Amino acid sequence: MASRPGERYLAAMNEPLPVRPPRERKPDWIRVKAPTSHGFNETRQLMRRLNLATVCEEAACPNIGECWTKKHATVMILGDVCTRACAFCNVKTGMPRPVDPLEPQHVADAAAELGLTHIVVTSVDRDDLKDGGASQFVRVIEALRKTTPSTTIEILTPDFRNKADSAVEAIVAARPDVYNHNLETVPRLYPTIRPGARYYASLRLLEQVKKLDPSIFTKSGVMVGLGEERLEVHQVMDDMRSAGIDFLTMGQYLQPTPKHAKVAEFVTPQAFAAYGAIARAKGFLQVAATPLTRSSYHAGDDFERMRAAREAQLGKQRP
Ligand code: SF4
Repeated sequence: MASRPGERYLAAMNEPLPVRPPRERKPDWIRVKAPTSHGFNETRQLMRRLNLATVCEEAACPNIGECWTKKHATVMILGDVCTRACAFCNVKTGMPRPVDPLEPQHVADAAAELGLTHIVVTSVDRDDLKDGGASQFVRVIEALRKTTPSTTIEILTPDFRNKADSAVEAIVAARPDVYNHNLETVPRLYPTIRPGARYYASLRLLEQVKKLDPSIFTKSGVMVGLGEERLEVHQVMDDMRSAGIDFLTMGQYLQPTPKHAKVAEFVTPQAFAAYGAIARAKGFLQVAATPLTRSSYHAGDDFERMRAAREAQLGKQRP
């Protein structure tokens, strides 16, 4: 049996990955329960009362029943209208409304009322704003630090096209605990799946975060089932490791509506496990790779694991 990381990697590389052909009906491992719990309704009411959008709803996330029952919601700042139109994403495209000055405090109030120990804050793309919305991320981090100082903060940002250097500098200076930015898919599929973005620009953004402040954890994710090849995914993992990314998330792409990109393949749980083993062998501090993994799924628990993994790694390096 392969025991060392290199041997495990080679063994995983040689194993055939079971795949399923696409079909209309989702496979059993994708189906989730309808959200009906008391906790779910309370979370929804709170978001409405504070006038906050969530990516859980806007992206039609399959985990919403589970997450909201536990009062875990991922807030989407800067409105619910995006200036891009990616082929995988369910968020509305159009001309967004002006930035809400009350939003940062509302996010902090939501974190306090939900009793969050870890919060994930994301946003739509705001190519219409001079700073891409970076200053609103900074204001949200500041409001959270003031209102709920013990809550750890994870931000999931857009690529801040053409203004990434200044945007990242401003956000890193506000010191979130985790800086997340998703690569989403392999570079070959960018022109069809993520046409407004550049793969290497996204990679560089994450590399810049690490260079500016190595204590901030960096995180990135890809969706699979869009027609990518296995070796292309391995290359993305290598690129991420070269950029110093700590945490990889991988989940199954699901077509939100018939006008979005089609599912090319339902990747089996076994194939996800194989991807996970390879990613761990490549040296990520934390890996989440299951069909229902999303950027923010179980983010709090995974953050604690990642923090412990870094501590263990540093402990080994100490004399
Ligand atoms: S996985 Fe993330 S986006 Fe989906 S419901 Fe949970 S917190 Fe929301």
